[in-house]
Amino acid sequence: MTDQSTSTASTASEPRNVIVIGSGPSGYTAAVYAARANLSPLVFEGSVTAGGALMNTTEVENFPGFRDGIMGPALMDEMRAQAERFGAELIPDDVVEVDLTGDIKVVRTETATYTARSVVLAMGSGYRKLGLDKEDLFSGKGVSWCATCDGFFFRNQEIAVVGGGDSAVEEATFLTRFASKVYLIHRRDELRASAIMAERAIADPKLEIVWNSEVAEINGSDKLESVTLRDTVTGETRPLAVTGLFVAIGHDPRSELLGGQVDLDDEGYVLVQHPSTATNVPGVFAAGDLVDHHYRQAITAAGTGCAAALDAERYIADLD
Ligand code: FAD
Repeated sequence: MTDQSTSTASTASEPRNVIVIGSGPSGYTAAVYAARANLSPLVFEGSVTAGGALMNTTEVENFPGFRDGIMGPALMDEMRAQAERFGAELIPDDVVEVDLTGDIKVVRTETATYTARSVVLAMGSGYRKLGLDKEDLFSGKGVSWCATCDGFFFRNQEIAVVGGGDSAVEEATFLTRFASKVYLIHRRDELRASAIMAERAIADPKLEIVWNSEVAEINGSDKLESVTLRDTVTGETRPLAVTGLFVAIGHDPRSELLGGQVDLDDEGYVLVQHPSTATNVPGVFAAGDLVDHHYRQAITAAGTGCAAALDAERYIADLD
């Protein structure tokens, strides 16, 4: 770790080429590419969750290059070490404020101020949680937020999906490929999902919609064994035996830092000029789940992290 008071003094007079904010697959990949392009990136990893979303999971089976799979934290350790190997400077701190509007970008933590000619935004997005006991404890042990990532682990099992929007219905329908039965637990008596998706779900023989219900408790000793359902009309509770629970109630992109400076869409995701990672602010690029509503995978985040570093490299080359 760098002495931050020293960094502050040197960076105030001498801006870095690239600052990367975020330490998931997109941030570390941007750091690897920027470091190998001799841009000496400074990476803010966050104070609590350095390594990003995959630090909260167990086995990752779909990141190419690991034929037997790899544990999420081990994968992130490898990415981190790879970025460091090429000279990326990593700071385990939160960025609390940015001023991205000028030619020289200003990035602040609680204790120091840094400047750079370009910034890669890679802060990811948070899966909304139910807020129940054992929800985090059973992450990777039955509770999941990602059907594409974890559906394969639930072959021939009875599982539940919570939610009623398009993504919940899409996830539930997708999960019927693996599970013997999928319960879609929804608080109301009709789905918010588009009519065609809802019709498909209702007609699916492996999918049962549990109307007017919410998950009140997550039960199990060391992994998920059942949930307790509460009827939202009568208040009655009953157990439902499932070994998997997919929470599909939405995501929140971590774009609160950017307020008013970088264009966001209605849900708060950063808008980029596809196919590049350029935002509306010159010298500011964005990657990973902070931008991506659709794929939300480690490999796609890594891919756009690579693109953001290449875009930053070209932007800096044009300035020189
Ligand atoms: P993230 O991984 O979310 O990383 C963002 C980072 O930015 C975090 O470390 C955060 O602390 C940091 N940050 C945010 N704000 C600040 C700030 N102000 N200052 C400093 N740092 C900040 N995908 C797969 O491909 N395969 C899987 O098997 C798989 N399993 C998953 C299991 C779980 C439980 C979860 C939650 C996700 C899973 N995913 C999986 C999805 C995958 O983790 C994400 O798509 C990917 O991590 C997104 O990468 P990212 O770099 O955009 O963001």
